[in-house]
Amino acid sequence: MDLGINGKIALVTAATRGLGRGCADQLAAEKCRVAICARDVNAAHQAAEEMATQYGTEVKGFGADVSREDDIDRLLDDVRQSLGDPEILVTNAGGPPPGTYASTPVVEYEKALNLNLMSAVRVIHGVTPAMKAAGWGRIIAITSISVKQPIGNLLLSNMARAGLTGFLKTIATELAPAGITVNALLPGTHKTSRIDELVQDRATRENKPANDVYREMMAASPTNTIGDPSDFGAAAAFLASVQARYITGHNLLVDGGKYSGLL
Ligand code: NAD
Repeated sequence: MDLGINGKIALVTAATRGLGRGCADQLAAEKCRVAICARDVNAAHQAAEEMATQYGTEVKGFGADVSREDDIDRLLDDVRQSLGDPEILVTNAGGPPPGTYASTPVVEYEKALNLNLMSAVRVIHGVTPAMKAAGWGRIIAITSISVKQPIGNLLLSNMARAGLTGFLKTIATELAPAGITVNALLPGTHKTSRIDELVQDRATRENKPANDVYREMMAASPTNTIGDPSDFGAAAAFLASVQARYITGHNLLVDGGKYSGLL
């Protein structure tokens, strides 16, 4: 199916690897002109070059820490100068450190809010004026299955993503008349460096081999597998499509059926 986004300018934050990269890959495969960022500018340049070669489209990499307001301002200026105003935005950031209420110092809360809530708020604020003027835009935020069922030992992530979900639902209503859709994609468990780190953390805490933790994670999905970032990216590309114009304010799980609730 032609998604109708050939040539559209897409910005995917935190996208040198993992789920952000999966989204950037799929948008590049649709021949969007793609900008990506990561804290390590060299990694961003390298990933952009790989994608440009693989998909035969323009891909630019920028260094930016999305938890920092000044980095986001600079990133948006750079993207506008090199590609133009983003028409498609995928917001992403690394995950905050694991921890429980007992183990998490209060000082960590604000850092997590900057990383997983304010980063999205700021970059969305930066791109919506041009989307409104154009009467077309697609905003997709990577959150987590934790907004449906909070995950033990991920207190900071649970908190920040719940706040982001409330923000997204509210602005979806406000931006719909301007032709801008706003949706969240909720990963279950996908094979990325983040999951490798969380597996290692749990293996250490529970004193068991990492492979046992992976097996338990796979068994938690009715598919008996862990997702791949490309599964996730394909869902993002569809939400970015012309055809998805009537889907907004939605929270779409990409979790292989792991979530067991009704809604
Ligand atoms: P990952 O660690 O594999 O990749 C993270 C990417 O973000 C990398 O490109 C990294 O360079 C970049 N990054 C990290 N911090 C950044 C920052 N401050 N500024 C700019 N770039 C930054 O992670 P992932 O598994 O792809 O996860 C992406 C997001 O989805 C995370 O917030 C994670 O907590 C969440 N999540 C992932 C899963 C999963 O199954 N992988 C499940 C639920 C939620």
